[in-house]
Amino acid sequence: MKQDLVAKVWRALPSLEENSAHFQGLVHGGSAERCLSANYSTGEVTGKDLQWLYRNHVADSTDGAARDLYHEIKIRGPIDGVCPYCNHRDVGTVDHFVPKSKIPALSIEPWNLVPACMACNKTMLDAFSPEPGEQYLHPYSRPFPISPEMRWLRAEVVPGPPTVVRFRAEPEGSCDPLLAQRIVYEFDGLRLAELYSKLSIKKLNAARSRFIRDSFTADTIREHLQELARTAEGAGANEWEAVLYYTLLASDWYVNGGYLQEDAG
Ligand SMILES: [Zn+2]
Repeated sequence: MKQDLVAKVWRALPSLEENSAHFQGLVHGGSAERCLSANYSTGEVTGKDLQWLYRNHVADSTDGAARDLYHEIKIRGPIDGVCPYCNHRDVGTVDHFVPKSKIPALSIEPWNLVPACMACNKTMLDAFSPEPGEQYLHPYSRPFPISPEMRWLRAEVVPGPPTVVRFRAEPEGSCDPLLAQRIVYEFDGLRLAELYSKLSIKKLNAARSRFIRDSFTADTIREHLQELARTAEGAGANEWEAVLYYTLLASDWYVNGGYLQEDAG
């Protein structure tokens, strides 16, 4: 690292720590968007310096001095190694919760570095709205605002052919209105309905093969779906697989022979 920059960063450390405490407070309070109006001082270190530090000494580059930190961030989150946004794909990258182009002062701020899969990272790009309702949920405060019992992911079977399972975000009425707005914003923004519907095709095919091969009756189909749903639910009430199986279970059309219909796959 450039020696003069090292000295400057050391001198700016109290300011960087102050910024960090302020930003952490906003994240915990569920109002990260307020950082847009904060005045983050970084002393002699410029925003460009911090962006350079991130690119060359934090990000996954060959000479990154903080590569261990980078890899550690990738396994942070509610479920190790799983993208906290789509709750399905593997984490493959570190994302800036507040884009570094918007607030360069937060380029190497640990609470601003969050794990994400490549697809979610790419979809979010440099978007960061000042509107409280148009926020993605911060991965490190995510388990706190959403209680495990709070159901918001729902689905319906649309009889085919091709049979499809359509997902939607619809938080319960008891959900905090701002949180509900954010859940829907994130679900729509990341196009999770499309992802979960596509993933369901494979599960529908596997279930159909099993039901035909083992001559399942409506009753054994229900038992089987219940078992699959309970297992998937272990990862959370809004786990797409659990919602899929509970939805199939509730569909008389599906259980009484609808499963034989070819789906979109
Ligand atoms: Zn993802």
